[in-house]
Amino acid sequence: MVAIVTGGNRGIGKAIVEELLKIDYTVVITSRSGMDDIKRLRDIYGKNVVFYPCDISFDDDRKRLFRFVDETYGSIDLLVNNAGVAPRERKDILEVTPEEFDYLLNINLKGTFFVTQELTPLLIKNKKARIVNISSMSAYTASVNRGEYCISKAGISMITKLFAARLAEHGVSVIEIRPGIIETDMTAKVKEKYEKLIADGITPINRMGQPEDVAKCVSSIALGNFDFCTGTVIDCDGGFNVRRL
Ligand code: NDP
Repeated sequence: MVAIVTGGNRGIGKAIVEELLKIDYTVVITSRSGMDDIKRLRDIYGKNVVFYPCDISFDDDRKRLFRFVDETYGSIDLLVNNAGVAPRERKDILEVTPEEFDYLLNINLKGTFFVTQELTPLLIKNKKARIVNISSMSAYTASVNRGEYCISKAGISMITKLFAARLAEHGVSVIEIRPGIIETDMTAKVKEKYEKLIADGITPINRMGQPEDVAKCVSSIALGNFDFCTGTVIDCDGGFNVRRL
Protein backbone atom coordinates (compact mmCIF):
# COMPACT_ATOMS: atom_id res chain seq x y z
CA MET A 1 0.00 0.00 0.00
CA VAL A 2 1.43 3.37 -1.02
CA ALA A 3 0.57 6.72 0.54
CA ILE A 4 1.57 10.29 -0.25
CA VAL A 5 1.60 12.74 2.65
CA THR A 6 1.94 16.38 1.64
CA GLY A 7 3.72 18.48 4.25
CA GLY A 8 5.00 15.30 5.84
CA ASN A 9 8.38 16.59 7.03
CA ARG A 10 7.20 17.98 10.38
CA GLY A 11 4.22 18.61 12.65
CA ILE A 12 0.96 16.79 12.01
CA GLY A 13 2.20 15.48 8.65
CA LYS A 14 5.24 13.82 10.19
CA ALA A 15 3.10 12.09 12.82
CA ILE A 16 0.82 10.85 10.03
CA VAL A 17 3.86 9.49 8.16
CA GLU A 18 5.00 7.55 11.24
CA GLU A 19 1.55 6.06 11.92
CA LEU A 20 1.27 4.94 8.29
CA LEU A 21 4.74 3.38 8.34
CA LYS A 22 3.77 1.46 11.49
CA ILE A 23 0.85 -0.13 9.62
CA ASP A 24 3.12 -1.12 6.73
CA TYR A 25 2.36 1.58 4.21
CA THR A 26 5.10 2.75 1.90
CA VAL A 27 5.09 6.52 2.32
CA VAL A 28 6.15 9.29 -0.04
CA ILE A 29 6.75 12.42 2.00
CA THR A 30 6.58 15.78 0.28
CA SER A 31 7.17 19.38 1.34
CA ARG A 32 9.03 22.48 0.13
CA SER A 33 12.09 22.10 2.35
CA GLY A 34 13.84 18.83 3.18
CA MET A 35 13.35 16.52 6.14
CA ASP A 36 15.89 16.41 8.98
CA ASP A 37 14.47 13.14 10.27
CA ILE A 38 14.51 11.17 7.04
CA LYS A 39 17.69 9.25 7.93
CA ARG A 40 16.18 8.01 11.21
CA LEU A 41 13.01 6.90 9.40
CA ARG A 42 15.01 5.19 6.65
CA ASP A 43 17.09 3.37 9.27
CA ILE A 44 13.87 1.96 10.72
CA TYR A 45 11.66 1.53 7.66
CA GLY A 46 14.20 1.23 4.82
CA LYS A 47 12.87 1.61 1.30
CA ASN A 48 9.35 2.07 2.61
CA VAL A 49 9.93 5.76 3.21
CA VAL A 50 10.90 8.26 0.54
CA PHE A 51 11.19 12.02 0.55
CA TYR A 52 10.32 13.88 -2.65
CA PRO A 53 10.34 17.71 -2.71
CA CYS A 54 7.13 19.33 -3.95
CA ASP A 55 5.68 22.77 -3.41
CA ILE A 56 1.98 22.08 -3.89
CA SER A 57 1.41 25.64 -5.09
CA PHE A 58 3.59 25.09 -8.21
CA ASP A 59 2.14 23.28 -11.18
CA ASP A 60 5.57 22.03 -12.31
CA ASP A 61 6.23 20.52 -8.89
CA ARG A 62 2.84 18.78 -8.85
CA LYS A 63 3.51 17.32 -12.30
CA ARG A 64 7.00 16.16 -11.28
CA LEU A 65 5.50 14.47 -8.22
CA PHE A 66 2.97 12.69 -10.43
CA ARG A 67 5.70 11.44 -12.77
CA PHE A 68 7.91 10.28 -9.91
CA VAL A 69 5.13 8.32 -8.20
CA ASP A 70 3.79 6.96 -11.48
CA GLU A 71 7.22 5.70 -12.54
CA THR A 72 8.18 4.39 -9.09
CA TYR A 73 4.93 2.84 -7.84
CA GLY A 74 2.41 3.03 -10.71
CA SER A 75 -0.52 3.83 -8.41
CA ILE A 76 -1.36 5.07 -4.91
CA ASP A 77 -3.74 3.85 -2.23
CA LEU A 78 -3.90 6.95 -0.05
CA LEU A 79 -3.37 10.67 -0.53
CA VAL A 80 -3.16 12.77 2.62
CA ASN A 81 -3.58 16.46 1.83
CA ASN A 82 -1.95 17.89 4.93
CA ALA A 83 0.36 20.67 3.65
CA GLY A 84 -0.74 24.11 4.69
CA VAL A 85 0.40 27.45 6.03
CA ALA A 86 -0.89 30.01 8.48
CA PRO A 87 -0.80 33.71 7.53
CA ARG A 88 2.77 35.07 7.64
CA GLU A 89 1.32 37.79 9.86
CA ARG A 90 -2.11 37.75 11.45
CA LYS A 91 -4.05 40.76 10.17
CA ASP A 92 -7.61 41.96 10.58
CA ILE A 93 -9.79 41.22 7.55
CA LEU A 94 -10.07 44.99 7.03
CA GLU A 95 -6.30 45.20 6.54
CA VAL A 96 -5.18 41.98 4.83
CA THR A 97 -3.65 42.66 1.38
CA PRO A 98 -4.41 40.88 -1.90
CA GLU A 99 -0.80 39.59 -1.91
CA GLU A 100 -1.16 37.99 1.53
CA PHE A 101 -4.53 36.56 0.54
CA ASP A 102 -3.11 35.06 -2.68
CA TYR A 103 -0.07 33.59 -0.88
CA LEU A 104 -2.25 31.64 1.50
CA LEU A 105 -5.02 30.62 -0.89
CA ASN A 106 -2.47 29.51 -3.50
CA ILE A 107 -1.02 26.98 -1.08
CA ASN A 108 -3.88 25.88 1.13
CA LEU A 109 -6.75 25.91 -1.34
CA LYS A 110 -5.50 25.97 -4.94
CA GLY A 111 -2.52 23.75 -4.08
CA THR A 112 -4.72 21.17 -2.38
CA PHE A 113 -7.25 21.18 -5.22
CA PHE A 114 -4.71 20.79 -8.02
CA VAL A 115 -2.44 18.29 -6.31
CA THR A 116 -5.55 16.14 -5.82
CA GLN A 117 -6.56 16.60 -9.45
CA GLU A 118 -3.02 15.76 -10.62
CA LEU A 119 -2.76 12.56 -8.55
CA THR A 120 -6.31 11.33 -9.16
CA PRO A 121 -5.32 9.06 -12.10
CA LEU A 122 -2.97 7.19 -9.74
CA LEU A 123 -5.74 6.75 -7.15
CA ILE A 124 -8.29 5.63 -9.72
CA LYS A 125 -5.93 2.96 -11.06
CA ASN A 126 -6.31 1.01 -7.84
CA LYS A 127 -10.12 0.68 -8.02
CA LYS A 128 -10.06 1.29 -4.27
CA ALA A 129 -8.26 4.22 -2.71
CA ARG A 130 -8.70 6.95 -0.14
CA ILE A 131 -8.10 10.67 0.17
CA VAL A 132 -7.83 12.38 3.55
CA ASN A 133 -8.02 16.17 3.65
CA ILE A 134 -6.68 17.93 6.72
CA SER A 135 -8.82 21.05 7.02
CA SER A 136 -9.37 22.70 10.41
CA MET A 137 -11.96 23.84 12.92
CA SER A 138 -11.32 27.13 11.06
CA ALA A 139 -13.46 25.68 8.25
CA TYR A 140 -16.49 26.85 10.27
CA THR A 141 -15.01 29.13 12.97
CA ALA A 142 -14.57 32.84 12.17
CA SER A 143 -11.21 34.28 13.27
CA VAL A 144 -11.28 37.84 11.98
CA ASN A 145 -7.50 38.22 12.36
CA ARG A 146 -6.74 35.41 9.87
CA GLY A 147 -9.75 35.38 7.62
CA GLU A 148 -7.85 34.14 4.57
CA TYR A 149 -6.86 30.99 6.51
CA CYS A 150 -10.50 30.36 7.48
CA ILE A 151 -11.60 30.85 3.87
CA SER A 152 -8.95 28.38 2.68
CA LYS A 153 -10.11 25.74 5.16
CA ALA A 154 -13.81 26.29 4.37
CA GLY A 155 -12.77 25.74 0.74
CA ILE A 156 -11.10 22.44 1.63
CA SER A 157 -14.44 21.30 3.05
CA MET A 158 -15.96 21.85 -0.39
CA ILE A 159 -13.00 20.12 -2.05
CA THR A 160 -13.86 17.14 0.17
CA LYS A 161 -17.46 17.09 -1.00
CA LEU A 162 -16.59 17.67 -4.66
CA PHE A 163 -14.03 14.89 -4.91
CA ALA A 164 -16.22 12.57 -2.80
CA ALA A 165 -19.08 13.07 -5.26
CA ARG A 166 -16.85 12.81 -8.33
CA LEU A 167 -14.66 9.85 -7.40
CA ALA A 168 -17.04 7.45 -5.62
CA GLU A 169 -17.78 5.69 -8.91
CA HIS A 170 -14.02 5.03 -9.18
CA GLY A 171 -13.79 3.49 -5.71
CA VAL A 172 -12.09 6.52 -4.14
CA SER A 173 -13.47 7.79 -0.84
CA VAL A 174 -12.69 11.20 0.63
CA ILE A 175 -12.67 12.02 4.33
CA GLU A 176 -11.96 15.37 5.96
CA ILE A 177 -10.32 15.69 9.34
CA ARG A 178 -10.80 18.98 11.19
CA PRO A 179 -8.06 19.32 13.78
CA GLY A 180 -8.59 21.67 16.69
CA ILE A 181 -5.71 23.27 18.57
CA ILE A 182 -2.68 21.05 17.93
CA GLU A 183 0.79 21.66 19.34
CA THR A 184 3.09 22.20 16.32
CA ASP A 185 5.31 24.90 14.76
CA MET A 186 2.13 26.46 13.38
CA THR A 187 0.70 27.18 16.82
CA ALA A 188 4.05 27.82 18.59
CA LYS A 189 3.75 31.61 18.37
CA VAL A 190 0.27 31.61 19.91
CA LYS A 191 0.77 28.72 22.32
CA GLU A 192 0.33 30.81 25.47
CA LYS A 193 -2.90 32.32 24.19
CA TYR A 194 -4.30 28.88 23.34
CA GLU A 195 -3.18 27.35 26.62
CA LYS A 196 -5.09 30.03 28.48
CA LEU A 197 -8.19 29.50 26.35
CA ILE A 198 -8.01 25.76 27.05
CA ALA A 199 -7.49 26.34 30.77
CA ASP A 200 -10.58 28.59 30.66
CA GLY A 201 -12.59 25.73 29.15
CA ILE A 202 -12.81 26.44 25.40
CA THR A 203 -12.60 22.68 24.72
CA PRO A 204 -14.40 20.00 26.77
CA ILE A 205 -11.20 17.91 26.70
CA ASN A 206 -8.84 20.05 28.67
CA ARG A 207 -5.53 19.83 26.74
CA MET A 208 -3.85 20.85 23.51
CA GLY A 209 -4.03 18.19 20.83
CA GLN A 210 -0.87 16.41 19.73
CA PRO A 211 0.04 15.58 16.12
CA GLU A 212 -0.43 11.89 17.01
CA ASP A 213 -4.11 12.54 17.84
CA VAL A 214 -4.71 13.51 14.21
CA ALA A 215 -2.37 10.83 12.87
CA LYS A 216 -4.37 8.09 14.60
CA CYS A 217 -7.55 9.23 12.85
CA VAL A 218 -5.69 9.00 9.53
CA SER A 219 -4.29 5.53 10.23
CA SER A 220 -7.76 4.31 11.16
CA ILE A 221 -9.03 5.52 7.79
CA ALA A 222 -5.97 3.99 6.11
CA LEU A 223 -6.78 0.62 7.69
CA GLY A 224 -10.17 0.67 5.97
CA ASN A 225 -12.31 1.30 9.04
CA PHE A 226 -14.28 4.07 7.30
CA ASP A 227 -14.85 2.48 3.93
CA PHE A 228 -18.60 3.12 3.75
CA CYS A 229 -17.98 6.81 4.48
CA THR A 230 -17.25 9.50 1.95
CA GLY A 231 -17.56 13.27 2.19
CA THR A 232 -17.47 12.62 5.93
CA VAL A 233 -15.96 15.01 8.49
CA ILE A 234 -14.07 13.91 11.61
CA ASP A 235 -13.64 16.61 14.27
CA CYS A 236 -10.32 15.85 15.97
CA ASP A 237 -10.54 18.81 18.31
CA GLY A 238 -11.06 17.86 21.95
CA GLY A 239 -14.76 18.63 21.53
CA PHE A 240 -14.31 22.24 20.37
CA ASN A 241 -17.16 21.67 17.91
CA VAL A 242 -19.75 21.10 20.65
CA ARG A 243 -22.00 24.12 21.18
CA ARG A 244 -22.58 24.64 24.85
CA LEU A 245 -24.92 26.83 26.86
P1 NDP B 1 3.42 22.97 10.40
O1 NDP B 1 3.65 24.41 10.11
O2 NDP B 1 4.13 22.32 11.52
O3 NDP B 1 3.65 22.09 9.09
C1 NDP B 1 3.14 22.50 7.85
C2 NDP B 1 3.61 21.51 6.81
O4 NDP B 1 3.16 21.91 5.51
C3 NDP B 1 5.12 21.44 6.73
O5 NDP B 1 5.48 20.10 6.46
C4 NDP B 1 5.45 22.33 5.55
O6 NDP B 1 6.71 21.98 5.02
C5 NDP B 1 4.28 21.98 4.63
N1 NDP B 1 4.02 22.99 3.60
C6 NDP B 1 3.71 24.28 3.77
N2 NDP B 1 3.54 24.88 2.59
C7 NDP B 1 3.76 23.94 1.65
C8 NDP B 1 3.74 23.95 0.24
N3 NDP B 1 3.50 25.06 -0.45
N4 NDP B 1 3.98 22.79 -0.41
C9 NDP B 1 4.26 21.67 0.26
N5 NDP B 1 4.30 21.59 1.60
C10 NDP B 1 4.05 22.73 2.29
O7 NDP B 1 1.86 22.88 10.61
P2 NDP B 1 0.92 21.74 11.22
O8 NDP B 1 1.60 20.45 11.26
O9 NDP B 1 0.34 22.29 12.45
O10 NDP B 1 -0.23 21.75 10.12
C11 NDP B 1 -0.48 20.69 9.21
C12 NDP B 1 -1.87 20.91 8.62
O11 NDP B 1 -2.83 20.89 9.67
C13 NDP B 1 -2.03 22.27 7.94
O12 NDP B 1 -2.84 22.13 6.80
C14 NDP B 1 -2.75 23.10 8.99
O13 NDP B 1 -3.49 24.15 8.42
C15 NDP B 1 -3.63 22.05 9.63
N6 NDP B 1 -4.10 22.37 10.95
C16 NDP B 1 -3.22 22.63 11.99
C17 NDP B 1 -3.71 22.93 13.25
C18 NDP B 1 -2.84 23.21 14.40
O14 NDP B 1 -3.38 23.62 15.46
N7 NDP B 1 -1.53 22.98 14.34
C19 NDP B 1 -5.17 23.02 13.49
C20 NDP B 1 -5.98 22.75 12.35
C21 NDP B 1 -5.45 22.44 11.13
P3 NDP B 1 7.66 23.04 4.28
O15 NDP B 1 7.56 24.31 5.04
O16 NDP B 1 9.00 22.41 4.27
O17 NDP B 1 7.08 23.14 2.92
